[in-house]
Formats: sequence, structure tokens, C-alpha cells
Amino acid sequence: MLNQTLKDYVVSRVLPHVQSPAQYLGGELNMVRKSHDEVTGRLCLAFPDTYTVGMSHHGLQVLYTLMNERTTWACERAFTPLLDMEAQLRQQAVPLYSLETFTPLVQFDVLGFTLQYEISYSNLLTMLDLGGIALHSIDRTLEQPLVIAGGPCAQNPEPLAPFVDVFVTGDGEPSLPRICETWLELKRGALSLGKTLSPAAARELRRELLVELARRLPFAYVPSLYEASYADDGQFLGLEPLYVGVPETIEPSVIDDLDALPLPTRPIVPYVECVHDRISIEIMRGCPWQCRFCQSTVIKRPLRIREVETIVSAALETYRNTGFDEISLLSLSTSDYPYFEQLIRRMQEVFQPLGVRIQLPSLRVNEQLRSMAALMGEDRRGLTLAPEVARDDMREQIRKKIKNEDLYEGCRQSFRHGWKQVKLYFLCGLPGERGVDLDGIVDMAETIARIGKEENGQYAKVTASVSNFVPKAHTPYQWNAIETREYFAEAHKRLWKRRLIKAVNIKCHEVETTMLEGLLSRGDRRSAEILELAWRRGARLDTWYEHIDTQRYWTAAADLNIDLHTVLHKSYELSDRLPWDHLNVRKGRTYLEKEQQRAVVQLAAMAEAV
Ligand code: SF4
Repeated sequence: MLNQTLKDYVVSRVLPHVQSPAQYLGGELNMVRKSHDEVTGRLCLAFPDTYTVGMSHHGLQVLYTLMNERTTWACERAFTPLLDMEAQLRQQAVPLYSLETFTPLVQFDVLGFTLQYEISYSNLLTMLDLGGIALHSIDRTLEQPLVIAGGPCAQNPEPLAPFVDVFVTGDGEPSLPRICETWLELKRGALSLGKTLSPAAARELRRELLVELARRLPFAYVPSLYEASYADDGQFLGLEPLYVGVPETIEPSVIDDLDALPLPTRPIVPYVECVHDRISIEIMRGCPWQCRFCQSTVIKRPLRIREVETIVSAALETYRNTGFDEISLLSLSTSDYPYFEQLIRRMQEVFQPLGVRIQLPSLRVNEQLRSMAALMGEDRRGLTLAPEVARDDMREQIRKKIKNEDLYEGCRQSFRHGWKQVKLYFLCGLPGERGVDLDGIVDMAETIARIGKEENGQYAKVTASVSNFVPKAHTPYQWNAIETREYFAEAHKRLWKRRLIKAVNIKCHEVETTMLEGLLSRGDRRSAEILELAWRRGARLDTWYEHIDTQRYWTAAADLNIDLHTVLHKSYELSDRLPWDHLNVRKGRTYLEKEQQRAVVQLAAMAEAV
């Protein structure tokens, strides 16, 4: 049921004072609003970033549809407000609410965060606080929602351990309904006892329910039920469960049949312009390749695909329900989809006459790239490729199995078909990186620009987007350290200096943001203390370059006497316990160890060869 009183107040007293008020109103096309009196459970999906970013996230639409298909659950949405809205909510003591029914977040049974990138963590704290929910899991009573979190960043949950009740890794589709139903059942059982409890007893009862939840669901990690230990020198030693029956390691949740999983064919259509305004269809989950730096391939195992006709008919139905004029075919490596050509031909056949464009995210460089330009016909916006590194020997080291000659030939074919722009993604700071690898980035971008000139008489516009490498949890490089600020600064300078062709643009990622990403992706529970202190001192919307102030984190770390060098720049021994070791991935640590050892051998050979 709509909380009309709160809505009226917000519309008349709050929104006149903020920019872009439409993002705080809900009521979009295809939004689902259910009466809370007619359901048993209420879930709010919380995206720790602003509306325009969160509404572009495909996973949110998937889970929203999935949960609202259950007649017994109402699933709603909330996003991080911009600074002016946050100030108004605080000034006027209005709680952060869901967009469907204007229900304060604290009144939901479950609040589910999706963690897509680490630098959004301060937004999670803002949302809990504005929603009227205790920041720390251990301070919550049964009246407060169960705060759960999933998504790629849940692979190292420790920097958020005090704030989240339950983390889930793996596929959200099977785990979200189970966790919601289990919690509701446990909570109802406890409340039916009808006891009036003191706040301390209510917190203790909630803890007992969390223990039971952890015992029942092998994919549920409840951090408050584990104790972390450290050596005298501060080294992380491991986590121990505090209760019998609470698992020592957590298994990811996995769906076997992706094709059987219905696609969200009635996604919400925002009224305000979002980062992506288009239909997204996930065509494949997982990746057949095993690049050593890549976390996605490890955590999205095994490889699962949707059938061509499932994709085409879902895309058509979604088009009819939304009117979008662009369709993005999502997967980690779209051109590795086994029926790629057949799919693109079918999509073009159906959607070209309707004036709907097909968009392919980053393409893998393989033989399909050569034919892709012809397949895409008139649709010739930029080509996006991720060579990651510029030299074939380095690419072998990172196990990205593509060759420069295929990349150049793919670009040539595209230019022949009238394409004029290429975006390339590179990594800087990979283990064993040499000067020639950095130079190669510029040389590759310029070679492609020249191929454009050979084919079309004009240099192709090439953007080389260079990210600073952060070794992520559950990858073969997880034992490696992040390069230092000085290293990245020098590397970026070298890249900019080498560029000769103006049509080539070298874009290097902000080093300080990389360091924050490192702190929040590789840290243990001490990173949570830094995060909380920085947030209390004003860290907000770190995902926005206008607002990020990493100095708050570095000052907080210094004040807490936490050594950042160890978190960021110290490499681990294979025998060390890592802060995320209690979360299992398919294939497991043994595979990662072997790959790390192979990488070390290859690196030594490479260093000798140059
Ligand atoms: S091809 Fe892309 S998604 Fe697949 S393993 Fe390599 S980097 Fe990861």
C-alpha cells in the first residue's frame, strides 16, 4: 500500500529543494506496486549508487521481476540519493524510502544490496543510515530488516563485514528467494512466541536466528558469526566460526539451466535519462576463457548459455513492453557465444526493420571479429575491444589467448565496412610488466589509427582506456600486490609522452581511486573500520569523480593506526591465509595456486627474453 502521507510530504516539502526530483518519485512504466497487506514478505532491492546508475543495472531488473512474480512477496527499489537530497532528508527527518510505496527502508523484512564495485561501499552506509537501520549488524533487532548483499564484490566481503547480516556469492536467482523465505519463516516463528523482549534480548534472539539461517543455507555467509584473528605483526590469520554447525567455508549458489530462467521482459522504463537506456538480454553466463587477472570468469563458472530463439523472442517481447530502440546482448565475452553469427543474423533480421539497434559490449578478438563488421550491417558505431596488453608474450602470461594480427585484421575489416572509431581497454601494472609493454599500448593504438587511414584516408579515432591493475580475490594473481602510486604515475607519464597521433587518446584511470578500490577489495575487517570512519567524516558518493575524496580514507587509516602498505602493496605467500579464503569458488584454491606458480615461471622466462 502506498504511504500517501509520506509521498505527499516528500513531493510538497522535500523535492522542490533538490535537483532531478523525478528520480525520487517512482511510478515508472512497468513498476510493480503491491499492497503490503496482501503479501507475506517485503523485500527492498537497494542499489548503492544513484538512480541513473542503478536503473541501468540488468541484475536489478532480473531480481525485481523474479521476486515480484511471487504472489507472496512485494519487491521494491531504493537508490543512493544525491547530496542535496541526502541533506534534505536529514534536515527534515524523512527516512530513505522505497520508490514503489514510499515505505521507509527500516520497515522491510529484507533489504538486498547488490555490490558491483567496491568504491560504492560508502553509499551502502549512507543508505542504511538514512533508512533508519542500525549501521552494525550486531545492533539490529528483529524489527529491522535482514540486510543481505551479493554481486561480484561479495567475493571479499570482509571490508563490509560489520554492516551486512548475510552475504551470498554466486547466482542470485536461486539464493535470493530461499534466503528471503527462510528468514521470514524464522522471524515469524520467533515473533509468534509473543514475548516482549528487552533490546538486548531482541538482539540476542536475532543472532540465534542468524545462526539457524547459516546452518540451513550453505551459500549464506553471516560475518557476525565468525571471529577474525591476527598475528602480533598484524598479519591476518583466518576466521573461525563461533557456533557449532555454522560452516567453515561457504559454497557459491549456482543455477544449472540459464535458458530455463525467464528473462525480465517487462523491465521498468525510467522517466529520467539513465546511464543506459536500452534493453539488456543476458545471452551467456560465464566465460570459456581463464585469463589470470579475471575474477569474473572464476566466479561465474560454469559456462551456461541461452538458446538463440529464447533470446530473440525475449528481446521482441521486451521491445513491445518498453519501446526502447537499442538492445544490448550481455555476457562476459559476447563473441564467444557459440551461435554468435546465427544470433546476430536473427537479431538483425527481426530488429533492423523496426529501427532497433543491436549493441555488443566488449568483443573478444577472434575469427568472429573479422566477420562481425559485415554482420552488423549499417550499425557502425564504435568498436570496443579489450586486448588488455599489447604484446603477445605478455598476453600469454596473463592467459588471454588472442593475437595482435587478429586484432589488426578485425579492425581493418571494420574500417572497410565504414567503421571509424575503436575503443581499447588495457591494464597497467600487471605482474612482470616491462617498459616495452607500456610502449606497446601506444604503438598498438597508433597502428590501429593508421590502419584506419590506409582503409579510409583518415586516421581512425582510437581511445586507449588504461586501468590500473588491482589483483582481485579468487584469481591466480590474488597473492600479488598492487603497484605503488609512484609506479602508476610514471607509467602514465610514459604513455602520454609516447603518443604521436592526435586521433589517439590515452585515458588513464585515477591512481587514488585505484588505491581505494584496492583497500576495499583486498582488505580484511580492518578496512571496515577505515570505511566507517571515513564515512562518518563525510565520505559520500565516492563513485562520482565530483565527490570522491580519498584523503578521508588515508587520514582515517592513519588515525586508526592501520598500515595501508600491508593491505595494498604487500604480496602474500602461497601458504598465507587470505581474508577471503573462507568463500569457496568452483575449481578452488588448488587451481589458483597452480596458475600462480605457472605465472611465476613464465614471468621469469619473459624477463630473461627481453
Ligand atoms: S575473455 Fe574476458 S571474461 Fe573471459 S576470462 Fe578473459 S577477461 Fe575474463
